[in-house]
Amino acid sequence: MNTFLIRTFGCQMNKHDSERVAGLLRAAGMSSTDRPHEADVIVFMTCCVRENADDRLIGQVASLKALKPRRGAGPLIAVGGCIGQRDGERLLDQVPHIDVVFGTHNVSHLPALLEAARAQGSAQVEILAESTDFTSDLPAEREHSWHAWVPITVGCDNFCTYCIVPHVRGRERSRPLEEIVAEAAGLVSDGVLEITLLGQNVNSYGRDLYGTPRFAEVLHEVASTGVQRIRFATSHPKDLSNETISVMAETPAVMPYLHLPMQSGSDRILAAMNRHYTADHYLSLVHALYERMPGLALSTDIIVGFPGETDDDFEQTLRVAEAARLDQAFTFIFSPRAGTPAATMEPRVPTSVAKRRFDRLVELVQRSALAKNRDLVGTVQPVLFTGVSKRDAAVLSGRTPGNKVVHVVLPQGSDAKDYAGRIVDVKIDAAQTWFLSGSLLGTNP
Ligand code: SF4
Repeated sequence: MNTFLIRTFGCQMNKHDSERVAGLLRAAGMSSTDRPHEADVIVFMTCCVRENADDRLIGQVASLKALKPRRGAGPLIAVGGCIGQRDGERLLDQVPHIDVVFGTHNVSHLPALLEAARAQGSAQVEILAESTDFTSDLPAEREHSWHAWVPITVGCDNFCTYCIVPHVRGRERSRPLEEIVAEAAGLVSDGVLEITLLGQNVNSYGRDLYGTPRFAEVLHEVASTGVQRIRFATSHPKDLSNETISVMAETPAVMPYLHLPMQSGSDRILAAMNRHYTADHYLSLVHALYERMPGLALSTDIIVGFPGETDDDFEQTLRVAEAARLDQAFTFIFSPRAGTPAATMEPRVPTSVAKRRFDRLVELVQRSALAKNRDLVGTVQPVLFTGVSKRDAAVLSGRTPGNKVVHVVLPQGSDAKDYAGRIVDVKIDAAQTWFLSGSLLGTNP
């Protein structure tokens, strides 16, 4: 086994796990390829949160049939992540030519499972009920040298009625603070400029270890390592504390961007979702955030057409979304996840009604995003360049502190590689709904 290819679906936690899989396989002497026909091992890191995830996975694995007509021929195929954890052995009934199924708790065992599949010529399935280690302890092959994911918790204790995560990632477990800080310090000395702290609900970090949440302290301590940019995801509104808002406002390295999932603006629906906050509480948080950080960029998740959602409930969602002055929203039409309480809730909202509501919400979010982007025209933003635009190799692409995409024309005679991973001041010249355009002012010291 010499070469590997990893396909990743879903959330940032999966992206982080994929970097660890890449690090492990490289440590085992393999190198990566992006061509399926050259790969000896193809790993799918799966997600079961989004609609049609199963169909997409099955479709992708089936599309490899020409390369792998049967077990023992062609590349080894491994399926990990949330679908692996949820379905285990059942996956082999659907796609018999999978060689390895592993879960969310045993990423480190993948090389041994692959070796066993190869040596024995039989499928290997290993699903653990819970993990003892964080994957951060494993070697990593980071996608970008200047950015790193650092998990601070895994699992979730919240059991929102529509969500499968607690069932596939287990109960919430926090990493000791000193371990997180040591990892962050090591990354900084390795040249990392931006760290994204990860957890299903970062705001409850430490409750299991220390009795009370200590996320504000994590932000403070990680900032003390000298890292230039700190981001984090995801924040549950019920656990966002004043202390965390203060540390965000007072710590320059913590970026003025927050993803705060609202899900609905109706108290009745929020209760049915088991979210443990009200629309008024959500708006009071938003008010406190903007008061302390007037330039904050706010994004959210909203589910439309949750079972029982009436026109009036939806109007409440529009009202809260408008008042929150959103920069971005990930909007979804409710779709049931087998095994979750919401999957059997009634009455279901007809698809045509949900679709109409969804379109109205998207229109509101686009208007709000454009207005917030226009506020930035004429300002100077320190932009962390990530590479060239996907659409035009002559255009540099990067992110503002508020996580907005900025496009800048690559100066004549320059190489995009010279900008990737550098923070450079950019004057914002124009705003579109989902990106900004600007001109380079110089290089930050
Ligand atoms: S907080 Fe709710 S939506 Fe988020 S992972 Fe936990 S159960 Fe799922």
